[in-house]
This record gives sequence, C-alpha cells and structure tokens, in this order.
Amino acid sequence: MTTHNEEDWLKHRKNFKESLSVESLFVGLRNGLRSSLSSAITIIESSIQSDQEKATQLIDRCLPFTGKSIRIGITGVPGVGKSTFIESLGIQLVSQGIKVAVLSVDPSSERSHGSILGDKTRMNILASSSLAYIRPTASGNSLGGVAQRTRESILLCEAAGFEVILVETVGVGQSETAVHALTDFFLLLMLPVAGDELQGIKRGIMELADAVVITKADELPEKTDLAIQTYRTAIHLFPAKDSTWAPKVLSYSMFNEQSVLKVWEMIKAFEAEIKENGYFEQRRNEQSVYWMRESVRDLLWNRLLDQSSAYIQQIEKEVLEGKISPFKASHLVFNKLIEKK
Ligand code: GDP
Repeated sequence: MTTHNEEDWLKHRKNFKESLSVESLFVGLRNGLRSSLSSAITIIESSIQSDQEKATQLIDRCLPFTGKSIRIGITGVPGVGKSTFIESLGIQLVSQGIKVAVLSVDPSSERSHGSILGDKTRMNILASSSLAYIRPTASGNSLGGVAQRTRESILLCEAAGFEVILVETVGVGQSETAVHALTDFFLLLMLPVAGDELQGIKRGIMELADAVVITKADELPEKTDLAIQTYRTAIHLFPAKDSTWAPKVLSYSMFNEQSVLKVWEMIKAFEAEIKENGYFEQRRNEQSVYWMRESVRDLLWNRLLDQSSAYIQQIEKEVLEGKISPFKASHLVFNKLIEKK
C-alpha cells in the first residue's frame, strides 16, 4: 500500500513534471521554435482536464508577450482562391523578413471527420519557409469552442514572435462573424461575377469587410472591372465604420505579384490609420470582453450539460415535438442551474 509520504512525493513529482513541461514549452515558444508552438497548440486543443490546466498556465505565461501582431481574417466561398491568396501574401511577407502564421477556423471539420483541406498538404512553398507557421485546421463540435481555441492559438503565435497572423475561415456561412471578432482586419475574397447571393455571401458579411478583393482577375479581366465597380458602389452604401476606415475594393491574380503587394499596402495603411486614431486598441479591448462573455456562456452551458444532461435531453425532445416553446424551455433549463448552485 502507498504510504502517505509516497503519495505526497508522487503528487509533488507530477506537479513538478507539469510545471517543467509548461515552462519548457514556454521557453521553446519564446525562442520561436515551431515544434514548441505546435505542441502548445495541441495542448490548447485537447479536451483532457490536465491539458486544459496546462493550457491555462501557458496562456497566462504568454500573455505579457502577446498583442503585437496584425491579425487578418480572410474569408470567401470554397474555391474562391483563399489558400492561393494566403500563400502569395505569405511568400511576399516572409521575403521581407516578416514572420507569418496561418490558422484556420472550421467548425464543420469534426462532423466530416477531418477537413478535406486539412488532409491535403497546403501552401507547400510557404510552409517550407522558416519564417512561416501553418497550422492545419482545428476541429471542434461548436463554433464557440473552435473560435476560442483559435483565439488562444493567435496569442501563442504572437508570443512565438509571429508578426502577421492570417486567420482563414474554411467553414461556409457561420464562421465569418467569429473570425471578424478575432481579427483586426477582415478581408472578403469574391469571384469576378456579379451578385453576392450567387456566391453564398450574406449582406451582413459584406458589411463586416474592411476590404473586398476580387480574385482570379487574370481569368475574366472585364468581369473583374465590372465587379470592382459593383462592389465599390455597394460598399459605399453601408453605414460608416467605427474605425472611420473606408472599405476598399481591389483585385488579385496569382500571376500578378503586384496585386498581392497592393493588398498588403492597403492593410498597412489601415493599421497605421487605426493605430493613429486609437481604434486598434479600443477594438482589441472590446474583443477581449466579447470573448470573455462567450467563454462564460460556454462554461455555463457545459456546467448545465454536466449536471442535468438527462433533463436537457427531455426538454429538447419536448421542444422538438412542439409541446413547449423554446423560450419557456430555456427558462426551465436555466432554473436547473440556479437550483443546483
Ligand atoms: P480556396 O478553396 O478558397 O482555398 O481556393 P484555392 O486557393 O484552393 O483555389 C481554388 C482554385 O482556383 C485552384 O485550382 C487555384 O489554382 C485556382 N486559383 C486561385 N487563384 C487563382 C488566380 O488568381 N487565377 C487563376 N486563374 N486561378 C486561381
């Protein structure tokens, strides 16, 4: 039988091992080791309790070294050219000596058991640069969970010295708002065909965009010009942004190096403008509050599921059968939380 002392010793040893591993990951990360960054993100993504504790410690350790990058969200329907564009931009940046990380948000990947894009080797040329870090798509069963982990991954990348973080949406339709809430600049890629409905982009998403970039400009030059005019008109009808930035419409072709450099210059101009007028900091602070609330919501919901999963299933069945209104059901479920306090 284990003696009391042995138990203490084992506990002490376990704590020591864990703090050592957090510390060594932190040191590796601060030295820009991509292997440490990858292990750290894996811990962030893990649902094992001991990993979650480590993840919290690691994030706390990293926080003083975060916040210095420019975070760019990139969205658009599958096939619009996101990977191609991100690789072109990434190559331009690393060739200027800028460290680039690429992360993606894909809430659907768990359902399809690993995203198709995650399986194929993407952005080969960029991936071979020692200044680039490309993280295959994180999976998860809730958008909130995936977004939260992406937010933490952004912080880790920043602590590892990455100066530009490109956050791509891979899922269609639902993840754009989350990515907007994770980034400073939101870029919408569109094909050179008129009509946003055709491209499955909701008006609301267009309104979030700081820039629309028409892709594959080489394929349909005339249609590209027309699309630029159409989107410029559309964008000017939206209410002015809090950032005071007037959204831009540009075009891009993978065969035209200048086109991607123009997009980068625009992003730099945006960064300079919002740092000057104070919006950069204001928005980052607002995003922190937003993510705190999201996280509280997740914690509450998980606690409810832990405590009353059978009851919730029963109520959901009644909602499904139309026996009870969703509003009333939500109150019944919420009351369970208060009862068990
Ligand atoms: P994603 O699904 O949005 O990531 O799109 P991809 O980057 O995988 O691009 C989809 C297809 O469009 C690929 O076959 C690319 O080679 C092609 N493509 C991307 N950008 C351009 C471009 O600027 N010009 C042309 N002609 N084809 C492009």
